Amino acid sequence: MKYRKVLDTHVHTDNSFDGHHSATFICECAELNGLRGVVFTDHIEIDAYLERHFDRTAVQSYFSIVKARSAFTGRVIAGAGIELGQPVYDIETADKVARALKYDQIIASIHNPRGRPDYSYLDYTQEDVDALLKEYFGEVLATARWNGFDTLGHLTYPLRYICGDYGMEVDLERYSGQIDAILETLVANQKALEINTSGLRQKLGDTMPGEQIVARFRRLGGEYITIGSDAHYASDLAKGVEEGMDMALRCGFECVTLYQKREPCLIPIE
Ligand SMILES: [Zn+2]
Ligand SMILES: [Zn+2]
Repeated sequence: MKYRKVLDTHVHTDNSFDGHHSATFICECAELNGLRGVVFTDHIEIDAYLERHFDRTAVQSYFSIVKARSAFTGRVIAGAGIELGQPVYDIETADKVARALKYDQIIASIHNPRGRPDYSYLDYTQEDVDALLKEYFGEVLATARWNGFDTLGHLTYPLRYICGDYGMEVDLERYSGQIDAILETLVANQKALEINTSGLRQKLGDTMPGEQIVARFRRLGGEYITIGSDAHYASDLAKGVEEGMDMALRCGFECVTLYQKREPCLIPIE
């Protein structure tokens, strides 16, 4: 490892529908790889909370993390978090879920437009990409204003499919007003922006968001960033995190943020 303290703060276990390994096994891999810590953030999609049984998987996830944490005390920090999808589509449930267990970190993400499937399942044409992205950034802004989370997950997520899979070009300048409003809201509420490194190992070939937005967040007064691989396999643990740390330094951040009991703790990038 190039850096002394490497943390991966966005990791899924087999208690996510798309996760494959247990929290304990991932902690073992983290220790072998010389990571300082992992924050587990299994999915809770608020707009499908009961239909897809997230009420049950959330409890299973939490207790498997607590078990792993006690087994690895003094070896690897194991944070208990969640990735709350679409919290603003049902704010009452989102608030209830966020308070239900003693979480360390809550990521808020938008994975799908209201009443429609995940962006990964949509068909894209040049004609509807603009309206879709305006709607996406609008929902993210509503999420930032809701403010019931710690870090904003993978901003620009639809680009993974629009640019990565469909090979379309998107000029983010068109959305700079909406993006600035999102970043300013995070700054005003002292919330973190996530640098999600999963896009580096996918066709997108970039972090979500990219460096320009991370730098803009800093210029607007952003203080907290989290860096996560969004691993769904133990083999992807911490992938791209050190590149994310390089980027954070270039953008003027001297620390990354580890949330513990939902309080930000600044860890120097060194
Ligand atoms: Zn996500
Ligand atoms: Zn995720």
